[in-house]
Amino acid sequence: MGYSIYLPSYSIGNDVYNNIPEICAPFGKRIVAVGGKRAIASVKELLLKAVSGSQLEIIDFVWFGGESSYENVEILMKNASVKSADMIFAVGGGKATDTSKCLAVKVNKPVFTIPTIASNCSACTSVSIMYNEDGSFKEPFFFPKPPVHAFIQTSVIINTPKKYMWAGIGDTYAKYFESTVSARGDNLVHYVALGVGMSKMCYEPLLTFGKKALDDQCAGVVSYEFEQAVLAIIVTTAIVSILVTQDHIIDYNTGLAHAVYYALTSFPHIEEGHLHGELVAFGVLLLLLCDKDMDTFEKLYEFNKSVGLPICIEDVEITREDLEDVIEKTVSMKDIEHNPYRITKEMLYSAFEKLQNYKRLSH
Ligand SMILES: [Zn+2]
Repeated sequence: MGYSIYLPSYSIGNDVYNNIPEICAPFGKRIVAVGGKRAIASVKELLLKAVSGSQLEIIDFVWFGGESSYENVEILMKNASVKSADMIFAVGGGKATDTSKCLAVKVNKPVFTIPTIASNCSACTSVSIMYNEDGSFKEPFFFPKPPVHAFIQTSVIINTPKKYMWAGIGDTYAKYFESTVSARGDNLVHYVALGVGMSKMCYEPLLTFGKKALDDQCAGVVSYEFEQAVLAIIVTTAIVSILVTQDHIIDYNTGLAHAVYYALTSFPHIEEGHLHGELVAFGVLLLLLCDKDMDTFEKLYEFNKSVGLPICIEDVEITREDLEDVIEKTVSMKDIEHNPYRITKEMLYSAFEKLQNYKRLSH
């Protein structure tokens, strides 16, 4: 029997929408773009221009409904433009692309992605994160193949608020630490080993180029460094995720940083006021302290400090009184069930203690 693996395909650069006619032509003529309102507004003219004079036609731009939910997918399935289109363009930042990808699977049409922010890898993965209509998490919806192609136009992404890439950096470098620690000592099948091996590219380029990338985004300059950060967040993370979750298990795709994230977001004020990747970045510092990897901890602490990602409990709005609760919740999370050693409450207490002391001593 064997097995098949489908990996992302993508174009990246200042004007890659120009590649749309050539890349999409084999899939038909009629395109429906489904996405977020602001995302569509930012790319509509560019996309229309890109297909003008070609055989392709964008027949409609449709709002995805505001939440990545099966309910919205059902509504979109009945949309006349969706029904008559040969292919779907998924336009937006995460929830919109996840909804459109799910839609494409349900109606069995090819989907191409047009990511408008760089904060996650939705544009290139073969999973959609689905939520209930009330915004609560429902489930990951896995499918065999990623989108046919992602058109990552950096001149579009540069114009979005910096906070998305800022948080995306934290979630992206977490992939390296969580997958390598989770996989330590295990005999891995080829594709998981491949993913874990590649995960280094989720960390090193960001440590090197992340600060400059963020500064360049503020200045509106599409630099080499900016492009490297976009690639790490959207492409590299997607490839790693696809490879390590091929069996639909989360063992190698998550870890202590995400367990800390889930524990923190059980506090409504933290859930409200902080981005996913920002809290995950904080969790990575605790992961490194529990793992006794002080060299990397120091590097990453300095990096977080240099870009304003969290380095202490005050930055994520927890108090010493909350710690017991945070730690209790962290150790109960499924994310840390697969780890080379058991993560205990004592380990976490000591990690928090070290983190707070490190700040005091380094000042
Ligand atoms: Zn994450």
